[in-house]
Amino acid sequence: MSTTVFSQLDRSLREHLATLVRLATTGDDDTAVELARCELPRVVTAIKALLDEHTPDEHGRCPTCRTRRFRRRLPSPCRAYLGAQLALTVSGDEPSGNHRKHLRSVG
Ligand SMILES: [Zn+2]
Repeated sequence: MSTTVFSQLDRSLREHLATLVRLATTGDDDTAVELARCELPRVVTAIKALLDEHTPDEHGRCPTCRTRRFRRRLPSPCRAYLGAQLALTVSGDEPSGNHRKHLRSVG
């Protein structure tokens, strides 16, 4: 496998995210506070930037996904958007049995 600039960027991004998760789960309280104040806004900014590329219409279709995939008869919901929704709403402090609540907030 060739190592491109992009793959290096991608790996460093993933390592950065893994570090954030590790610090958030195993770090002390000071570290957690610092993460929330300094890193969380940046992560939110990153997610917003991604979602700006994936803005589904009222049927869940997004222009970015539509152009990248084969055209289908059935509209397929934007997976990036749904993935972000799922990750953000299910991984809260509530147990994962609350999918319905999340679905209702989407619909
Ligand atoms: Zn999309």
